[in-house]
Amino acid sequence: MGTPTPSTAGKYEFCDEGGQWPLKGLNLDDAWDEAVDAVLETSAHTDETYWIKIHVRNPDDDDDAKEGKVAIDPIEPRCTDDREHKWDQVGLQGSGGGVLETGRCVHCRLEAITNTWAYDRTDGEEGMHSVRYSTDAREAYEARELG
Ligand SMILES: [Zn+2]
Repeated sequence: MGTPTPSTAGKYEFCDEGGQWPLKGLNLDDAWDEAVDAVLETSAHTDETYWIKIHVRNPDDDDDAKEGKVAIDPIEPRCTDDREHKWDQVGLQGSGGGVLETGRCVHCRLEAITNTWAYDRTDGEEGMHSVRYSTDAREAYEARELG
C-alpha cells in the first residue's frame, strides 16, 4: 500500500576529536549547515576570532564528505547610550597578503581590529579573516577625562 515513508534521519554524521554525531540533514549542504550551527551555538567566544575545523561525512560513501572551518568571532561589545557603533578608520597597515585595519567608534571609542590575513595557530593556515575588539582607547580617554 502506497510508497514507504522515507526515513527522516539523515545519513550524515559530524566528526571531530570528540566523536561522531548524527545529523538530520538529508543532503550534504543541509548536514553541513546543521554542523556549522551546532558549532556556533556551543563554542565559547574569546576576544579574538578563532577557527574550529569540522568534518561532515557520509559513513557509507567516502566521497560524500566535506571538511572546513567555522570562524568563531568575538562578541562585539555594545556601544554607549544605546547607539550603533559608527566606525572611523584610524589605522591601516599591510599584513601578509592582506591588511590590518583599525576602526574606532566615534561614540564609544571601541576599536575593532580586522585582519584580512590572519593566521590560524592550530594548523598554520594563512589568509584567514579575523576580528578583535579593544577598549584601550576608550579606557585611555576615560582616564584623561577623569584627570
Ligand atoms: Zn560605539
